[in-house]
Amino acid sequence: MSVTLKINEIFFSIQGESLLAGKPTVFVRTAHCNLRCVWCDTKYAYWQGEPKTIDEILAKVKEHETEYVCVTGGEPLAQKNVSELMSRLLAEGYIVSLETNGSFSIKDVPLKVIKVIDIKCPGSGESEKMAWENLEMVQPHDQFKFVVASKEDFDWAQELCTKHHLHEKCPVLYSPVYGKVKPADLASWILKAKAPVTMQMQLHKEIWGPEERGV
Ligand code: SF4
Repeated sequence: MSVTLKINEIFFSIQGESLLAGKPTVFVRTAHCNLRCVWCDTKYAYWQGEPKTIDEILAKVKEHETEYVCVTGGEPLAQKNVSELMSRLLAEGYIVSLETNGSFSIKDVPLKVIKVIDIKCPGSGESEKMAWENLEMVQPHDQFKFVVASKEDFDWAQELCTKHHLHEKCPVLYSPVYGKVKPADLASWILKAKAPVTMQMQLHKEIWGPEERGV
């Protein structure tokens, strides 16, 4: 029997987040998420989606000329067959990244996949749900991402990074919640704290606008 995943959308756009920001990328957005972050901007992925076989997903990805594929959500690791999808994409020669909400273990994710792992700050309402073992399982090509909704979130992220030596494990990204924290405020907190992080804006929202889907 063919292996399927419930897919919300597959589209070609500019990567808006992570250290791959700016790269033309095919996005495979899976349906479902086990979290409900208060500032979530992809609520439509909670329920909407169609089952697709891995062959169907690959055929759709191949319609576009790029070496970058990002598996995102929703929460991709909420579907067990996603590891097989990522393995097949790697076998086809793609540079594969995974955007995960940090609440599932990354133990079954193929090692070559670039994992961009959220660590949910208290302002998300979901910081209690993190799979903390992930902090010890990353490789240098992975990235930890904190989405910051307040100065309290920033201070919490700083403390966590120091306590677990996250900067020594892989790059750490800080990004402001769109419309909630002024980028200039986050930038000044980072500079004042001399935080060795990469500040990120959601590039796709700057390019296409905050409400646009499938970009
Ligand atoms: S983990 Fe992502 S998709 Fe899920 S609720 Fe949070 S922001 Fe939305």
